[in-house]
Amino acid sequence: MKIRYFDHAATTSVDDEVLNSMIPYFSENYGNPSSLYSIGKENKEVINLARMKIATILNCKVNEIYFTSGGTESDNMIIKGIAFANKRYGNHIITSKIEHHAVLNTCEFLERFGFRVTYLTPNSKGIINPADVERAITRNTILISIMYANNEIGTIQPVEKIGEIAKRYGVYFHTDSVQAVGNEKIDIKKSNIEALSISGHKFYGPKGIGIAYINEKINFMTIQDGGHQERDKRGGTENVPGIVGISKALEIANANLVSYNRHLKELRNYYISEIQKRIPNIKINGDMNSRLSGNANISFSGIDGNKLVEMLAEKGICTSSGSACSAGFVNSSHVLLAIGMPNFLAKSALRVTFGKENTIDDTKFLLDSIEESVKILRKI
Ligand SMILES: *Cc1c(COP(=O)(O)O)cnc(C)c1O
Repeated sequence: MKIRYFDHAATTSVDDEVLNSMIPYFSENYGNPSSLYSIGKENKEVINLARMKIATILNCKVNEIYFTSGGTESDNMIIKGIAFANKRYGNHIITSKIEHHAVLNTCEFLERFGFRVTYLTPNSKGIINPADVERAITRNTILISIMYANNEIGTIQPVEKIGEIAKRYGVYFHTDSVQAVGNEKIDIKKSNIEALSISGHKFYGPKGIGIAYINEKINFMTIQDGGHQERDKRGGTENVPGIVGISKALEIANANLVSYNRHLKELRNYYISEIQKRIPNIKINGDMNSRLSGNANISFSGIDGNKLVEMLAEKGICTSSGSACSAGFVNSSHVLLAIGMPNFLAKSALRVTFGKENTIDDTKFLLDSIEESVKILRKI
């Protein structure tokens, strides 16, 4: 069966060029970067080169880039590292209800260690109001963590404004930009970002590799203790193939941002306009202007989103519902509930996220399949 993949917010395939750049570092060039012989020392140079490339693209300093095992680790490293190092200055953190669980559960962890967390509610379109961020700041606030773009509804947050507020009040500002990198032009200096998380596998790079950018002025504590790697801030032998892969993936993404966005937008807008024509009683979730080009999240009232995902899967179509099934219970998406959607509508959502290999023909097949499946599900 032909697989048609529309779940690029979950993960992406590794680009051929990225894969080819990585392969030598699994075999011939396997040296440990901390070793003193050439195949080791050469890899130290390879890592430095990757770090330089990444710093140039993101517009930050080379010594502000740390390699991690992914978006989840970067979020943990930054939020816990800042919180524990700055506890004597205050114990208050501001975040939002629509963050990824890597941020939400890290904040909940910190609450068990005496930190107080404010979880801001977005408006009904899934956007955080910078004025709400400002109002939430107290003299105990040490960190604001608001995501760049949401993984379920694709909404892009006003990070520049939030960064400006954070700067004005002398509070650190972190943004989980896992969904934005590879889709949006990120300029750390211009956006007043002081810490940011990146994951390789969301933009055609490998899984298990991530980046944490942490401004050199930030006081933070090492969370992963071990060897002296990453300037004593993150112990563990470096993932050399992963580091080579993520820097190559970022380079490719950065060079193709305009055409990539044009492609995604064309497919996404076609998809949404056809859905609106073909299927009654739907609701498009999330702001349509401040939004990632490839994201469409739509509620089809009266149906179960997970059932729709399963019916589409039978036709080789990969999508996502946003609802998590655990221990036999279906939990509606925390993001859709946070934007004020009633439970029954939140449960009927389907997230489609387009990527570079998708075509108009694939999208037509997707549309026909959704139309047919929704009709069947609404009759049951
Ligand atoms: C995927 C994702 C993460 C987690 O990244 P991993 O590399 O899979 O650990 C964190 N935040 C957001 C917004 C994501 O989409």
